Amino acid sequence: MTQAKAYAATSATSGLKATTIERREPGAGDVEIAIEFCGLCHSDVHTVRSEWRPATYPLVPGHEIVGTVTRIGGAVVGFAVGDTVGVGCLVDSCRECDSCLEGFEQYCENGNVGTYGVADRRNGGGLTQGGYSSSIVVDENYVLEVPAGLDPAGAAPLLCAGITTYSPLRYLEVQDGDAVGVIGLGGLGHVAVKIAKAMGATVTVFTTSPAKADAAFALGADSVVVSSDAAAMADARHTLNAILDTVAAVHDLNPYLRTLARDGALIQLGLPPEQMPPVNPGTLIRKRLAYGGSMIGGIAETQEMLHFCAEHGIVADIEMVAASELDEAYERMVAGDVKYRFVLDASTL
Ligand code: NAP
Ligand code: ZN
Ligand code: ZN
Repeated sequence: MTQAKAYAATSATSGLKATTIERREPGAGDVEIAIEFCGLCHSDVHTVRSEWRPATYPLVPGHEIVGTVTRIGGAVVGFAVGDTVGVGCLVDSCRECDSCLEGFEQYCENGNVGTYGVADRRNGGGLTQGGYSSSIVVDENYVLEVPAGLDPAGAAPLLCAGITTYSPLRYLEVQDGDAVGVIGLGGLGHVAVKIAKAMGATVTVFTTSPAKADAAFALGADSVVVSSDAAAMADARHTLNAILDTVAAVHDLNPYLRTLARDGALIQLGLPPEQMPPVNPGTLIRKRLAYGGSMIGGIAETQEMLHFCAEHGIVADIEMVAASELDEAYERMVAGDVKYRFVLDASTL
């Protein structure tokens, strides 16, 4: 075991405090990574505060990790000491089920192993601990190459926000000329705008924050609709082919569904802790709409996304924070006061 510096929550209300955790010695197939940057995802907030379900503490969050390889096991073939690498939301899965074999490890039928807060098959039943930490040891099959040319700090959020938005856009086969809506201009939403634009789509941003309109255009949006503006919502009726919903709080989907054209689809990505108002079946039926969901992406698709972002010069717009600022950053994220992703500078741990 080696010791790593980390910031952990000890209860749903404790906030994040400095601590030390143990990382396993790299096994034959493992890569040891000195973490440089870790994005702050709203899922970290939901989990740390036990908003989805009671979490097990102490808990070190963080699943948007970029760092440098410091040691490799004897059987590692894909990585070398000194490589810049990433780790996203998954550190293991069963590797045998149909989903794993098809490259959809996130949907592992025996339960994927998340980067933090779940039983770690490799750690004697202890919990996985995430990226608000100075190092991590991960099986090479769950480690990503960060292409040269991507700023490492700006690339960190791609490991969750990037793949979570790229995967459904690919699944829906979004291409040149399609009209894509993005609900919520936060961490996921702003990356979704960039990726959808790079795929050739025209992009409409739906926001609750009128003050974000200029910034949305600057990110590449073709139009911006403030969702409380009923006339603007009416103007957008039946104009879109696909919508990604990235909102972290309860909201009514029906006004957004009415902006889809025939055969359109709304994909739920945001996971509010409470039930949402029901979707009106008539709205779906009248335009043959689909309402679905999507969870992050598989490992091969995450690597594909990183290459796509490198090719198109896409990284997240970030605000760097020190470890001592994590609690404040969470408050600001919940208040929607971040443009557009906080990233922890792990050298401040
Ligand atoms: P974030 O940075 O906090 O962004 C969420 C955005 O939602 C806000 O910036 C805000 O945008 C909008 N919003 C917030 N409260 C709202 C309200 N009451 N009504 C309408 N809009 C509201 O969060 P994030 O990190 O992008 O994550 C977003 C959600 O996705 C979270 O629930 C997270 O857990 C989930 N998530 C899911 C996956 C997955 O695999 N499906 C992966 C990662 C994250 P405006 O100011 O523009 O309205
Ligand atoms: Zn995330
Ligand atoms: Zn599996």
